[in-house]
Amino acid sequence: MGTTIFAEMSELAAATGAVNLGQGFPDTDGPAQVARAAAEAILAGRGNQYPPGAGVPELRRAVAAHQRRFYGTELDPDAQVLVTAGATEAIAAALLALVEPGDEVIAFEPYYDSYAACVALAGGTRVPVTLRPPGFRPDLDELRAAVTGRTRAILLNTPHNPTGSVFTAGELAVIAELACERNLLVISDEVYEHLVYEGEHVPIGTLPGMAARTVTISSAAKTFSFTGWKIGWVTGAPEVVAAVRTAKQFLTYVSGGPFQYAIAEALGLPDEYYRGVAADLRAKRDLLCAGLAEVGFEVYPPQGTYFVTTDIRPFGLLDGLEFCRGLPASAGVAAIPSVVFYDNRDAGLPQVRFAFCKREPVLREALARLAALRRAQPPAAAVTSA
Ligand code: PMP
Ligand code: GLN
Repeated sequence: MGTTIFAEMSELAAATGAVNLGQGFPDTDGPAQVARAAAEAILAGRGNQYPPGAGVPELRRAVAAHQRRFYGTELDPDAQVLVTAGATEAIAAALLALVEPGDEVIAFEPYYDSYAACVALAGGTRVPVTLRPPGFRPDLDELRAAVTGRTRAILLNTPHNPTGSVFTAGELAVIAELACERNLLVISDEVYEHLVYEGEHVPIGTLPGMAARTVTISSAAKTFSFTGWKIGWVTGAPEVVAAVRTAKQFLTYVSGGPFQYAIAEALGLPDEYYRGVAADLRAKRDLLCAGLAEVGFEVYPPQGTYFVTTDIRPFGLLDGLEFCRGLPASAGVAAIPSVVFYDNRDAGLPQVRFAFCKREPVLREALARLAALRRAQPPAAAVTSA
């Protein structure tokens, strides 16, 4: 198997000196106070040896307090919270623990790359339900039709990478009813829970009947801008969390001891911190979306996440993969071809994802470079109106 698309595009960006709007990571670190807490934990010998398998109690308590503070959920930090090596491990452990060979797992495509890989590792079969532009709303009839006697779980991601769609309470209620009616688990990846610019994040696990059948997953990476620390967590019913822990203990066993203490502190930051992260990213979203539209892309503005999806057909182009492989050399910018997140390739072929979690001058530089692309290849609309 080759490298992930994220690694491929980041390597291409580094090799060509391109502005990297591909892989989703911020170019400024999270709060200094949180970084200091990690450094102090290391120097004080906290977490330098194997932490407890479920995570240090301070972090489990902080995750439970976070779920109560933002969503009103009551969790027992000992039985209902599990710390993982990022959301990535949480997704892998949840699928390995809960999906048996032959089970079907429904996911909305385009989907984050590890979903397909982990469903396959678990011996399951992925069943895509396509989100379509411009709104990338879930088609709930299509979802209902995708459920069979073999369906074990719906793998949900809201706010959604790569489309930036935030599922509404109404959409989630329909998904929840279906899960209850057909006795399905929901594995809910909520890593962008605090990066919402329009609408509101609703954890599906808070809806009626869902506490017992939802595996809720999140991570510190996006909320606190420390993607390299790889501190994630799973919350849910005690039996479900115990099952996920059974798989997790043979994946990494434990990880990131000192960082766990630092994230325990980060989760308790005041509301202004959480509001500030979203406000900062909202402004960056607006800047990049307007600039990309100006360059000539069709832009589908996101309600959340780090990402905006565009369509390259106004340039007279169709193949986003070819476009992204050439873009670092032709324009000095790297982006991600969303087609790699689809089973139904035709649905995503012309879509290209740009990350806006970068400093404003970096976004402006990328836009200035992309303007050269426009001069070289005027968008079809500009040609007709000329
Ligand atoms: N889920 C989604 C939707 C993501 O975009 C990412 C990565 N950014 C992850 C999970 C993985 O998160 P982590 O870095 O905490 O492993
Ligand atoms: N989640 C990040 C993205 O979507 C990438 C993480 C990774 O490289 N696996 O861009």
